Amino acid sequence: MRFRVQSLRRSKRFKGLALSAAYRCIAEVLWSLQATAIWSITVALKFATEIDQVPEQAGHETAQGGFDHVETWVFDLDNTLYPAHCNLFDQVDKRMGSFISQLLDLDLVEAKRLQKSYFYEYGTTLRGLMTCHDINPTDFLDFVHDIDVSVLEANAALGEAIAALEGRKVIFTNGTHAHAENVLGQVGIRDHFEAVFDIADADYIPKPDQEAYDKFVAHVRFDTTKAAMFEDLARNLALPHAMGMTTVLVRSPENESAAFIQKAGGAGDDADHVHHVIEDLTAFLDSIK
Ligand SMILES: [Mg+2]
Repeated sequence: MRFRVQSLRRSKRFKGLALSAAYRCIAEVLWSLQATAIWSITVALKFATEIDQVPEQAGHETAQGGFDHVETWVFDLDNTLYPAHCNLFDQVDKRMGSFISQLLDLDLVEAKRLQKSYFYEYGTTLRGLMTCHDINPTDFLDFVHDIDVSVLEANAALGEAIAALEGRKVIFTNGTHAHAENVLGQVGIRDHFEAVFDIADADYIPKPDQEAYDKFVAHVRFDTTKAAMFEDLARNLALPHAMGMTTVLVRSPENESAAFIQKAGGAGDDADHVHHVIEDLTAFLDSIK
């Protein structure tokens, strides 16, 4: 009897242990299935997110820096649409020094030093003079642009290269309309541009100030992610790059302004925001047709 009772007890304990093991086994299987399901959902979601993100990022990165997507071509004027070795801007530069010398009764060396410090600190000499000496911008601009543009040669090849670009072509300059008309007329490329946005249009706020770019974009009305900008000063390409434009630096060993900025610690040829560094604008435009 005792044996039967013990046997029964053993049998019940065995059943209990067996059931407990079975429950544990089922629980582990269910847990395993649940974990697998959670892992699968996580992977699927991650994959779906990556699928959703990658083409947009890759597309943007591929587009910016290239030219196939470009609808609007933005060109600076001085030392960009004509080579710096013509020394045309040199004339403007010298007259800026003369203007400051007369305005503040300084010798030419000191006037030049002040001019360059304003150029570096405020973007243009004019902006520095307006900020620090409250000058009339028109007086200054008329004076400094009274130069001899005959040093520029007509450039039919550049005109053809610009004409071959598909899309809108505009000029964004820290100079004036009158100066742009003189230069473009002399080079023989005026007809290729839809518009000139000058320093007066920008309310005398120059590149590289953000406000100048905002006014330019609002005025011309274009998609900055489908645009390219050509400039001789690397610092003026930082914001265009941030706005999604393809950036091209037209460099020249004779460009004293660009060398001055770089020497003073500003952006130069090696700046990260510059996609292309070129010397021959016509050849480059021909190469991207
Ligand atoms: Mg320039």
